[in-house]
Amino acid sequence: MMEYPIESFSWEVLSPSVAVKHMDKSAFLHHGTGVPKKIAFFFSLGHEGLEAPRPATLIYGRQRFSAHFQMDTQHSRYRLFWKSDFSGTIENSFPDLHRAYSSGTSDLTEEPLMRFEKLSEHRYMVSFILTDVINADVEEEIHQESQSRPEGGVRAYYGKRYERDPANRRRAIAFHGLRCAACGFDFEEAYGIRGAGFIEIHHNKPLAAAGGPQIVDPKTDLAPLCANCHRIVHRYRNAVITVGELKKIIRPNKAMEATP
Ligand SMILES: [Zn+2]
Ligand SMILES: [Zn+2]
Repeated sequence: MMEYPIESFSWEVLSPSVAVKHMDKSAFLHHGTGVPKKIAFFFSLGHEGLEAPRPATLIYGRQRFSAHFQMDTQHSRYRLFWKSDFSGTIENSFPDLHRAYSSGTSDLTEEPLMRFEKLSEHRYMVSFILTDVINADVEEEIHQESQSRPEGGVRAYYGKRYERDPANRRRAIAFHGLRCAACGFDFEEAYGIRGAGFIEIHHNKPLAAAGGPQIVDPKTDLAPLCANCHRIVHRYRNAVITVGELKKIIRPNKAMEATP
């Protein structure tokens, strides 16, 4: 059994199916990124190298992009290359990212994470995690809730405090991705750029009676949920259900199924 996370340079392999890469400017400029040998197993690349480039498919939103792995003999590592169509799509989804990298001076709070979810040896679902996007979403959520409840502001119930912690949110998205853990909804797939990078985060555990700070493990304690599923989980304050329980009661959307 391997011990996760496995780190090497700017990479972290979080599980057998998830790896994240801290994206620097060169990855954007050169349409690709180095893959150190220590984490090459994640992409099913061995230590012996590659004779010829190996094709791969990157899936982002509803689109597929062709990419390939090749040897970087000078540095005894691999490189993953994609084409400009993929870079262009990322730039459209995250204009701040594009601005930060093209202006030379990045004013991003933190380097964005590029997340890879392995579907097979040749297919990887990718998403981008930007701290600034997460911070803005959390601020907006808190602001909107305080507007709608002027009498007492936000009532901290059932882990809301943890759900609204931007660092927890980032860790949760890095581990679980941006898709709803209950129904599979993806905001960017459904709403395009307006939904890029958005998901709510649910804290699974009831707060300890003592109320002291808890250590939050994003793998087990946090789950990404779409706004609908999240609301239904919390619908009755005194009878919050688990994500597993919600999954069992979700019924297929008949209206959508009937659409030819
Ligand atoms: Zn959902
Ligand atoms: Zn929640």
